[in-house]
Amino acid sequence: MSKAELKSRVCEAIDRAADEIIGLGESILRHPETGFNEKRTSTLVAERMAALGLEPQTGLALTGVKGRLKGGRPGPRLALVSELDSLRTSDHPLADPATGAAHSCGHNAQIAGMLGAAIGLTAAGAVPQLAGEVVFFAVPAEEFIDVAERLGRVEKGEIEFMLGKPELVAKGHFDDVDMAMMIHTGSRDGADTRAFLAQSSNGAVVKQIRFRGRAAHAGSLPQLGINALNAALLAMNAIAMQRETFWDKDTVRIHPIITKGGDAVSVVPAEVTMETFVRAGSLEAILDANQKVDRSLRAGAMAIGAAVEIRTIPGYLPQRNDRGLGEIFGANVESLFGPGSFKTGGHRTGSTDMGDLAHLMPVIHPYVVAAEGKAHGADWRINEPEHGYLTPAKLLAMTAIDLLYDDAAAARRVLAEFRPAMTKEAYLAYARGLFKTEHYAAPEA
Ligand SMILES: [Zn+2]
Ligand SMILES: [Zn+2]
Repeated sequence: MSKAELKSRVCEAIDRAADEIIGLGESILRHPETGFNEKRTSTLVAERMAALGLEPQTGLALTGVKGRLKGGRPGPRLALVSELDSLRTSDHPLADPATGAAHSCGHNAQIAGMLGAAIGLTAAGAVPQLAGEVVFFAVPAEEFIDVAERLGRVEKGEIEFMLGKPELVAKGHFDDVDMAMMIHTGSRDGADTRAFLAQSSNGAVVKQIRFRGRAAHAGSLPQLGINALNAALLAMNAIAMQRETFWDKDTVRIHPIITKGGDAVSVVPAEVTMETFVRAGSLEAILDANQKVDRSLRAGAMAIGAAVEIRTIPGYLPQRNDRGLGEIFGANVESLFGPGSFKTGGHRTGSTDMGDLAHLMPVIHPYVVAAEGKAHGADWRINEPEHGYLTPAKLLAMTAIDLLYDDAAAARRVLAEFRPAMTKEAYLAYARGLFKTEHYAAPEA
């Protein structure tokens, strides 16, 4: 069967299974689960994979699920990745009222798309005609949230890294993968095509910060207290005053939140906690901005006579999308939606842990534009279900066929042209080296 025929058979199979695929996406939408807690979603994926004969492995980095289809001949192993986790956006209309968890980043569509691709490829009997393997990989915890909860998991030894893909790499679960792609949902607000692929995006380190002061009566004896909230506010202002020193090309983003501001309004705050990301477009720029943040935090503590504990945690590495993979993907978008329906290039200032994988193997992280509202916002909504759930299924399957057809000639070409930025060992050593805890106490007056 020709490659074009194979692709159209797979797309027809996906259209026949439309109700089921959309139903999977909507079911996950209504049961959002945050990173490393994605039990229901993970069980759903494993059951669906088992029904398709993918023999899933489960419990990878706590909740990850991996299944595979082997081609007719050995060859490169392509992972179709999807992310299991939700975010927390408590004012989203479909937020879990107890936890505030909500799919305001649209990861539910990723799972539906990946399972849809598996349904299409198996129903059309496509895989025996391919070389290599298609690996279906539902991965935990792409959103870096719940820092305290995840630090607790690290301390208990449940995980080493606090994001899904780095943790899976460390545990060896990407050792049997040569290249990877996933499709994220994009919002129509700010996009004028049906799909797009940036060239790159920011990386980040994550900070957990604790200011310690001294409690005292806030009305009658603040003179005896040390106000940890004032130290934190000074530090935030000092961080803001660093901004003129950042180069535009480095696209630095620093956005702290206060996670605890005090104990009681009548007590001088003795403990204040903050979290922040320090994002930028290159590793060098992240480390430079991070030093300035540390300096600012110490300055806040010093001025008020407080102490500060600064924890630095590896977050995301900057993302680089593979050009060859992107061209194959883009051609499939245009074959479905016509010329001009796909755009590529530019830099995005968000982050993804696909960036970590991108240092090790060719990857792409494109967007299918099928939502309205703001990503991570309360108004985010997949407003075109067919495009949101079925198009990613088709594009994943079509791109897999392109890569692995003809004895996987295209996949072999992509691999031959790829130069990894790091070996797995160097990557893990780098990421482990980012973990740091500093204790700074202001000198006694
Ligand atoms: Zn997100
Ligand atoms: Zn996302």
